[in-house]
Amino acid sequence: MSAVISIHPEHELDGHLVKGSDHQIRQERGQREVFCGLTGIIWLHRKIQDAFFLVVGSRTCAHLIQSAAGVMIFAEPRFGTAIIDDRDLSGLADANEELDRVVGQLLKRRKDIKTLFLVGSCPSEVIKLDLSRAAQRLNTQFNPHVKVLNYSGSGIETTFTQGEDACLSSIVESLPQIGHLKESTSKTNAKKLLVVGTLADVVEDQMQRIFKDMGLENVEFFPGRNSQNSPTIDQNTVYLLAQPFLADTAKRIEDKGATRLAAPFPLGAKGTEAWFKAVAQEFNINETVFERAITAPRQRAQIAIAKYKKFLDQKKIFFFPDSQLEIPLARFLSQELGMTLTEVGVPYVHRQHLAQELEMLPKNTVIVEGQHVDLQLDRCENAQPDLVVCGLGLANPLEAKGYTTKWSIELVFTPIQGFDQAGDLAELFSRPLIRKEKIAA
Ligand code: SF4
Repeated sequence: MSAVISIHPEHELDGHLVKGSDHQIRQERGQREVFCGLTGIIWLHRKIQDAFFLVVGSRTCAHLIQSAAGVMIFAEPRFGTAIIDDRDLSGLADANEELDRVVGQLLKRRKDIKTLFLVGSCPSEVIKLDLSRAAQRLNTQFNPHVKVLNYSGSGIETTFTQGEDACLSSIVESLPQIGHLKESTSKTNAKKLLVVGTLADVVEDQMQRIFKDMGLENVEFFPGRNSQNSPTIDQNTVYLLAQPFLADTAKRIEDKGATRLAAPFPLGAKGTEAWFKAVAQEFNINETVFERAITAPRQRAQIAIAKYKKFLDQKKIFFFPDSQLEIPLARFLSQELGMTLTEVGVPYVHRQHLAQELEMLPKNTVIVEGQHVDLQLDRCENAQPDLVVCGLGLANPLEAKGYTTKWSIELVFTPIQGFDQAGDLAELFSRPLIRKEKIAA
């Protein structure tokens, strides 16, 4: 194994209809064209600024991370790959000893690291390297200076955004039970709000300002910018999801006594208003105070969105499954921009977390959970959409066939949540269509 600083997993996974909400959600199994969960490191390492993500994987894994996060080459990166090489694979070297050596070197050189994530990959799973035991072992050596956690980003187990879910879930699991905390219980007695899901700092700051204007002070965001400021989660915690792909994290948070606040996701003016409204109702915020807090940002969002409606109204859009953001995005594009949804492909549909989003979709929206890429490409061809949202692996072939595409990965890297980002979100979908019009003119 050597210290160095993506791929599209193809799993054989057939199709039947399942009733979900008022929509027929078709389940499909077949070849998938999605990124693996390692991709989450790209936005997680930017957010948690004292953490380091050590992928235990192959050169392919290293190339994925390096190229996807290529903008970091001028800074000390907070991610790297411990390459599993031939000696590890053939059993000539003890992979655990090699891993301990690599971690020792890394932590000796990088005193700024406070949390180290050992991130599993397809190769580490194939050689059955037990990273949870490795994390326990390394914790005895480096904790309390450095907390060592582990999760899997492997393409065998995870897709794209599930990497974030696995990472946050590992953090929640590591939090002490409230009864073991030394702090005064007064800190935990007041009902508090925990916003869950990685948000860009600028979005977090805007949301925090609106919560403050609503009179709410006891609000925490998870993950935070500093891994040492872990949230306290107990029965007084009401949590609100900011991202739709956090099923395991949500379950772990609930295991610690917290309650989920049901809401749509904060995309677009309407989604964001409903998201804040759910909080206002839960915390008994006066209607006048709530309206005062959101009127100006909501108006800014509505004005910004209106600029793009002329490009998107009545245009047909087709979603290939990738990020799990597809249903909230489809709701925003149909509800606020007048787009026609030809098909909404989603890797997984969490019926509970997405219940309110599903209710806001137009009746008879075609939702496909899972993927059989060949069948889906045929349906895309029949639908002849104006815009296709898909992963990088499909974008170029589709462009070559004359389709206009939008990379779904861009929707995860770009700040799109909240009122002040609603116009940017609409612009992301308008830009390829405007460009195509200009080229044709
Ligand atoms: S984890 Fe698996 S799918 Fe992801 S880059 Fe590594 S080998 Fe490829």
